[in-house]
Amino acid sequence: MGVFGDFIRWLPTYFFPKICYGCGREGWFVCSDCLPKVAKTLNELICPNCQKPSPLGLTHPECQKKNGLDGLISFSRYAGWAKEIVKDAKFGLNPHWRAMKELAEEMAGELANRKSLIVNRKPPTIIIPIPLHWWRKMKRGFNQAEIIAKPIAKYLNLPLKTDLVERSTYSLPQTLVRDASRRANVRRAFSVNKNIKELPDSAILIDDVWTTGATMKECCRTLKLAGIKRVWGITLLRA
Ligand SMILES: [Zn+2]
Ligand SMILES: [Zn+2]
Repeated sequence: MGVFGDFIRWLPTYFFPKICYGCGREGWFVCSDCLPKVAKTLNELICPNCQKPSPLGLTHPECQKKNGLDGLISFSRYAGWAKEIVKDAKFGLNPHWRAMKELAEEMAGELANRKSLIVNRKPPTIIIPIPLHWWRKMKRGFNQAEIIAKPIAKYLNLPLKTDLVERSTYSLPQTLVRDASRRANVRRAFSVNKNIKELPDSAILIDDVWTTGATMKECCRTLKLAGIKRVWGITLLRA
């Protein structure tokens, strides 16, 4: 995102006060009454393949698939105020965009405090936001996964890479596709930038919401086929 984009988004912070996404009260994006109404999932992590509980979010050994995710961490449920924040943020307007950024910063802070989470967080691990197709990114003006990835990279002290993987096909938004067809919708949607010669051993993919996981799994498959050995996923919310 350019300096101009940052400026445009910074301006209206003066004109739009924070309003609680749960009850509409002024002063916070989420007030202390509404905060506990959406369950945190950081303490009830699941295996990305069978979606059943798994300590630390590790993929169960028996669930591990070839070129599949090694683990998954999600911060909160995709419900109530959290769902509203992420849905509104896609339109890129203040204050919604700012609310998602704050939520992402909170998640990043908690991840940094819990050293046990994310098994492969030592460098040369890189942070990769799931890319949008360039046309969609241009229309929207930003990639929401990138906004979430920035504080995570900062707090975990890992490099953020936005040019390593590209979205090569323009697929339908997953929200418009039935669950059963989501895998096919993103099949071969990603490619690794051939100009990048040295790949790290492990990567952490970032996205806003985990629903069926089809997008993240496909992106993970692309990275593993390119030679990255371990891939984790982190999403702000989980359906
Ligand atoms: Zn409230
Ligand atoms: Zn499993």
